[in-house]
Order: sequence, then C-alpha cells, then structure tokens
Amino acid sequence: MKILRIQTLRGPNYWSIRRHKLIVMRLDLEELSERYSSDIPGFYQGLTSVLPSLVEHCCSPGVRGGFLSRVERGTLMGHIIEHVALELQQLAGMPVGFGRTRETSTAGVFQVVYEYENEQAGRYAGRAAVRLCQSIAETGSYPAEELTQDLEDLKELKAQGSLGPSTEAIIKEAEFRHIPWMQLNARFMIQFGYGVNQKRIQATLTSSTGILGVELACDKEGTKQVLRDAGIPVPRGTVIRYFEDLSDAIEDVGGYPIAIKPLDGNHGRGITLDVTRWETAQTAYDAASEASKTRSVIIERFYKGRDHRVLVVNGRVVAVSERVPAHVVGNGKSTIEELIEETNKDPRRGDGHDNVLTRIVVDQTVLSMIEEAGYTIDSVLPKGEVCFLRATANLSTGGSAIDRTDEVHPENIWLFARVAKIIGLDVAGIDVVTPDISKPLREVDGVVVEVNAAPGFRMHVAPSEGLPRNVAGAVMDMLFPGSSPSRIPILSVTGTNGKTTTTRLLAHIMKQTGKVVGYTTTDGTYIGDYMAEPGDNTGPQSAHLILCDPTVEVAVLESARGGILRSGLGFDTCDIGVVLNVAADHLGLGDIDTIEQMAKVKSVVAEAVSDRGYAILNADDPLVAAMSERVKAQVAYFSMNPDNEIILRHTEAGGLAAVYENGYLSILKGDWTLRIEQAVNVPLTMGGMAPFMIANALAACAAAFAQGVKIEHIRTALATFIASADQTPGRMNLFNMGSYHALIDYAHNPASYEALSGFVNNWPGPRIGVVGGPGDRRDEDFVTLGKLSAKMFDRIIVKEDDDTRGRPRGDAAVLITQGIEEVLSPVPDPRVKHETILNETDAINLALDQAPKEALVVILPESVNRAIALIKARNPILDTNPEG
Ligand code: ATP
Ligand code: ATP
Ligand code: MG
Ligand code: MG
Repeated sequence: MKILRIQTLRGPNYWSIRRHKLIVMRLDLEELSERYSSDIPGFYQGLTSVLPSLVEHCCSPGVRGGFLSRVERGTLMGHIIEHVALELQQLAGMPVGFGRTRETSTAGVFQVVYEYENEQAGRYAGRAAVRLCQSIAETGSYPAEELTQDLEDLKELKAQGSLGPSTEAIIKEAEFRHIPWMQLNARFMIQFGYGVNQKRIQATLTSSTGILGVELACDKEGTKQVLRDAGIPVPRGTVIRYFEDLSDAIEDVGGYPIAIKPLDGNHGRGITLDVTRWETAQTAYDAASEASKTRSVIIERFYKGRDHRVLVVNGRVVAVSERVPAHVVGNGKSTIEELIEETNKDPRRGDGHDNVLTRIVVDQTVLSMIEEAGYTIDSVLPKGEVCFLRATANLSTGGSAIDRTDEVHPENIWLFARVAKIIGLDVAGIDVVTPDISKPLREVDGVVVEVNAAPGFRMHVAPSEGLPRNVAGAVMDMLFPGSSPSRIPILSVTGTNGKTTTTRLLAHIMKQTGKVVGYTTTDGTYIGDYMAEPGDNTGPQSAHLILCDPTVEVAVLESARGGILRSGLGFDTCDIGVVLNVAADHLGLGDIDTIEQMAKVKSVVAEAVSDRGYAILNADDPLVAAMSERVKAQVAYFSMNPDNEIILRHTEAGGLAAVYENGYLSILKGDWTLRIEQAVNVPLTMGGMAPFMIANALAACAAAFAQGVKIEHIRTALATFIASADQTPGRMNLFNMGSYHALIDYAHNPASYEALSGFVNNWPGPRIGVVGGPGDRRDEDFVTLGKLSAKMFDRIIVKEDDDTRGRPRGDAAVLITQGIEEVLSPVPDPRVKHETILNETDAINLALDQAPKEALVVILPESVNRAIALIKARNPILDTNPEG
C-alpha cells in the first residue's frame, strides 16, 4: 500500500457539513487492491488480537461487533484502515468516531476519510493504521511494542497540541455557546468571534484586561500598599535589597515567624514560610534574592492559616479553592519515599498542567522540608502523621485543591470583589491566608497575600475535592454579555462561473449600508475601499484574514472549489450561501470526476448556511435548485424567467425570489413584486445585453435582500457598480473604440462561452471573434467553442495561447475550426468567414484593424493584460456603457 496524499480539513466540507475536523488520505492499495479481508489468511484473527477494542465499532450493521463481522465476511483494506485510524486515536485518549471510505476513478486508489481531534495525531494515526494493516496482511500480526510506541507517540502529539487547562476550559465554554474561535499564530492567543465583534484571550488574560492592573499585580509590594491604603488586611512587611538590612527588616515587621519571598516571583519559587530562626532566614534570603529579577526580597509577617485562591471575574467572586501543599500521610509501615510513590500513582496526577493534579517531584526543597520536619526521605512515617513536602500549595508543585466557594463569608465576598476592582483586574486570582474562610478576615486575622493576573483555572474547574465551578462561563459572560454578538454576517458565494463578479457586486451592495465590508476574490482580498492582499484568495486562509480583522463588519467571501476540497470552508456557518451554477469545469481534479460530484462540492456552501440564514439558489440550473433538499436554511431562488416552475411554486408558498421580468431586476416575495431597477440602467449587465450578468446581479440582489438590505441601497449599488477593466480585468471589459466596440473576456469553459454568446447575440452590428482556449482543456471543449463561435460571429479569427500546455502547436486551432465547420453548411458558408492566425497579438491587431463600423470585436485572450494594453494603445473612449 502507498499513501499518495494526506489532507487536513478544518471546516464544513465535501464529506460532512457538521464534522469539520477530518483527515482525507488518498491511498493506493496496490497489491491489496482487489483483496477482501476474508481472502487474506489470518487477517481477521490478527486484527482482532492486535486491536480487540475494535469490537466497539458498529459500522453499517449498527450493532456492537458490526465492523468486525464485516472484516470476517470480507471488506476492502481502505475501509479497515479507516476504522483502525479511528481506533488508534481513541486508544490514545482522543474520542473520534466518524469515517467514510470511497474508491476513486483510479482503480485501487481510495479516499479514506476519518475524524481527528488533534491534526498532527490524526495524520499520524493514518500512517500508523496503514503500517499496522500492512503488517497483519503480511505476517498475521503487528508487534506489541510497535503498537505501544504508536500509542505513546499519539499521546505525545496530543499533549503537544494541548493549549493548557485554563484556555481549554474557556474554549469548551465558547463551543457550548456556539461562539467560533481560532488560534492566532502568535503568543498562544485565541480569538473568539469574528471581525469587529471579536474578543481575545491569552491564557486567562482577556482583551479587556488592563496593563496597569497586570503590572500592579506583578509588583507584590505595590499591591499590598494599594490594598492597605484601601483598608484591606495585608501582611505587614518590607522590601530589602541587601543582606545587611535583613535583621533590621525582621525587627521592623515584628519579629518571627516571618515569610521571605522574592518581590517579583511566581509559582511559589524562592519562597520560605514560617521562618523562626536566623539561620533559616539567611538561607531563605539567598533563595529569594536569587529568584528575583531585581534581587529584591520581601520580608513579611507569617500568618498561620489555610491557603485559599479566590477567583474574581468581572467584579464577581466566582470560585474559591483551598490549596493544600503536597504532603503524605503516614501508615506506620512505608517510608516517605514509598508514600510519595504511592501518591503519584493516582491516575489524576500527570506531568505539568495536563492533568487534574501534578506529580510530586522530589527535589532539594522537598528534601529540606522533610528535614525541617525531623525526618529523612527513608524514614518510616508514623501512622496518621502528616508530612508536608512543600510550603506552598501551587498545583504545579504537587498541591491539591478543595472547592470552598459555598463556604465563604458574605463580608469576605464583598471584600474580595473590591480587591479585584482596586487592583484593576477583570480576571483576578487573590491569594488569601486565613484559618477560616467562613469568618470575616478581620475577625480571624486573615490576610490577602497577593493578587495574581492571569490566574490558572485548573483548581476551580477540576478541584481534587468538592464541586467543579464553571468559571469559564463567567469569562464568556464578561466578553459577550447578554445578547451581544460574537459573529459578523458572512455571505459566501460559489459556483462554476461568475463568483468574482457576484462577490464584488454583493460587497458593493453591502457597502451602501455604511458598514465596513471585507471581501475575498480571485483577484485579491479587500477591506473597505482598499486591497489588503493581492492574489487568488478564494480559500479558507483568505477567509480567515477577513474574519480575524477587527475592522470588518460584514464578510463577503468567494468560496471556490479548490479551497473547499483542500481544507473545507474557512468558517463554521454562514448567513447567506449563494450557489450561482454548476458546469463542467475542473472535472478530474481532486477526485471530483462527475458534474454531480462537483455539485456536491458547491453544495457545501449552501448547506453551511445556519438555519436562520438563506441559501440563494439558481432556479434555472437543475443541479443547483436540487440543493434545496439538503439545506437546513431558508431558500431564496433567482431566475432569468419569472415563469420558471420552481419560482412559481416557491413564491406561491410565500417564498422569496429574484427574477428578471419585463426588463426589470425584481424581488418577488409571496404576492409582491418589488422592482429594483431596469436592466438597461445596470451597467454590469451591459445595458441589459449580457443575460448571464443579469443572472449574477439577481443572485446578489436576492442575497442582499435576504440579509435585510433595503431596496434603495440595492438600487444605488446596481446603478454605481462598474465592472471596468481596471477593477475586474478580463471580465466583460467593453471598450468604446469610436466607430466600433471591443470586448475582452476571460471565458474559459463551455458554460462561460455559452453565457458570452447570450450577450454577443444581442449585439446589433457585425460581430468578430478572436477565439482560443487553454491547451489543457478537453478536445470536445475546443470543438464546442468552435460551434458556439460559428453561431455568434460573422467573422472568426482562431488563435492559440503562447503556452499550449502540452498540446502540439496548431492542434487546438484545428479542433476549433472543426467545430466551426460542423455548424456551417455548406462549407464554405459565405455568411461566416474564418481563418487561423496562431499568434495572439497578430490576431487581435488584425481584428481591430479591420473592424467595420458598429462592430463588436470579442477577444478571449490568453493574457488579459496584454490584450488590454493592445486596446488601450488605440485610445478607447472612456464611456463603456453602450446604452449611455
Ligand atoms: P503563586 O504564583 O502561586 O501565586 P507566588 O510565587 O506568587 O505564588 P505568593 O502567592 O506570594 O507567591 O506565596 C505563595 C503562597 O505562600 C501563598 O499562597 C501563601 O499560601 C503562602 N504565603 C505567602 N506569604 C505568606 C505570609 N506572609 N503568611 C502566610 N503564608 C504566606
Ligand atoms: P474563476 O473560477 O476564474 O474565479 P469566477 O467564477 O470568479 O471565475 P468571474 O471571474 O466572475 O467568475 O467571471 C469569469 C468569466 O465567467 C466571465 O468573464 C464570464 O465570461 C463568465 N461568467 C460570469 N458569470 C457567468 C455566469 N453566471 N454564467 C456563465 N458564465 C459566467
Ligand atoms: Mg500567589
Ligand atoms: Mg473568481
């Protein structure tokens, strides 16, 4: 077997609208291509013994053991690999379940599609599944140590991809609220929402966290000062920089017991508590000074009591945990070392932050704590005796947490809420030492030790004892209060032809509403009136640029086939999904071989519309109209024909449509007809002579109207949208040459030639065509072009591209000529003159030189810019509207 390609999908896609995270593996089964599992000796037994848990896969029979029974009865290897890739991820702790396998038009080559949780792990699982199945097919088994290694690697990849417990808790809450999120490529920032409505976090810092609050919290002495001034009980203390000042400082704070800690430390580093002797004070000073960037050391009174972490979000106390430092309890038999080992066996304990608790690591601090208590690591601890291994209770050094949220005295709640406000933090972690949190601090000699910016959430969302608290919910309530929006309207446009034109027009309409519109097209990405990035920007990356931009209020996105197949849509749902048409183009690429499959690709845009939005479908294109059955949104149709059956039925039922009737572009809503504008007054339609442009405009009108744009705004937009050669080069650029007109268009498939003929046939004067097409199209496409040319032109000059894309020179021209002659009879037909001039520049110049009065010269160039330059050299008159 050979893996030909692995793609990672991240949005609604060809395989599933709902499941965004899929791997698509293109797999050549090679020697196993025609072999059913039942024909491979020992395969079923091998697979069941290597991965017995596959019994849980129901597969098509829909019952436990369903998949394995299909392996026993005989199924193809692609299908088995799909299930194995899922199972490996499952075993490594990543719950996934969706999969599909389909043969491609190339015999023996399959597309194996399966879900992933972590991208890297997903890709790895596919490769491992192929290895595993290959080995079982060849040897009847897969070595146990290899499987163990695979699972370990998968777990490692999962851990590497993890964003940390606090971030993950907030993301989970966002997903629960259907708020979209994405990871930015710097500083582990996460964006929630889109465009102008977005908010960001970085761990538990948020876009509304103020820098002054953060800096104050990082300055422990300053924090205490400000709190003391506000009447909040804080430890009495002082800061020193030189060892010589230590003994005076101890006296100043009232003598032992004292706490010694770095001024600017965190995570409990360099802290010594309950210092009662000068010798300890000396070493504690050194440790603290070392841990401080500025060599500044806090000397303060030590308060007896329990350590609490109070979480305040947006002025409200949302959770309180008591933190217990790492410790062991004696049983009268085991040594301290054995007790630590036992404690670390708790499956909730992991390394770093990835589990609920962290393993206890024996280091110098632990050893000296044990020594302080009068033991060594090898001492047998008496039954019931508690030996603390650390003074500080940070979870990251092996501490545990007990939820106390419901026990806090109301006066303390009032006090803590004030503390967060006084420091100026929207999310604050307040460290409080008090013997009893259910009594007012002042009564029991409790103190606020410090205030933390970016406090961890792990101890609140997964305390080792007590109720978990949904603190992430409080953060989301703060970022998106009440019904405030997180999204911006997304209008997505797809189809075989006309996407860029319709996207631009729709963006132009949306601009009339005064909003900042971000849009992506084949020519570039735009925000407002400027180009943000040039290039063919019709995939998810360009969509992200727009959706990440904090100035964008409305997004209009050209969504082309390539991006959808490569990585899925760049958004989870949209408000408007326009499907213009589906025609034979790009067939044979990306395993899309038939026009029906292509329709399914384009249908992704319609199906991704949310149920409150609208899918805008072409009623004149049966493949597009049929998409209505699959969409969950409301449907609006557009049609060139007001008597189209679908339109009649739809409007009768009260539905929305846009049609071309009596020369008008109109909206139909139930019984109502709202005339927007006459086609002759819409420059894009070339004075009403380009039917396909009318169709594109109708699609844009329906989309805008469904999105709630006023008719007046739509009308103004239609009247002012000019598809000039500068704005949309190569798309129906009409030039007034004085005595005749010239048209440049980049039609490049039979459907667009046909569309073009709709316009040319409306031209009243003589019609001359300079025609040719890209060499990589099919033979029959050239013949079609020839036939259509014969029907629309009085004179045809057949030319060829400089780059024949692998065809012998002259070949395409012969095919086009063949098409022309098939239509003409008798040959030669005196009504149509045709000749071949292979050089494009010569052909264009000849056509322009010999253009009769009132003629239209239509040029389908290889290079749009070169053709435009040839025309501009002849000084066209600026007005491009033939009617105006
Ligand atoms: P973190 O990063 O976990 O917040 P930190 O390194 O910033 O810790 P502090 O919060 O100042 O350090 O101290 C750590 C812990 O030590 C406190 O939560 C508290 O339990 C204890 N502690 C600190 N100062 C005192 C004190 N003066 N009296 C009693 N206990 C104290
Ligand atoms: P691409 O796939 O190159 O991005 P696109 O779908 O964005 O193309 P446009 O750039 O808007 O399409 O138009 C390209 C050409 O397709 C036009 O110049 C015209 O010849 C033709 N065309 C435009 N609209 C239609 C339509 N509704 N039906 C058929 N052909 C069309
Ligand atoms: Mg602290
Ligand atoms: Mg385009």
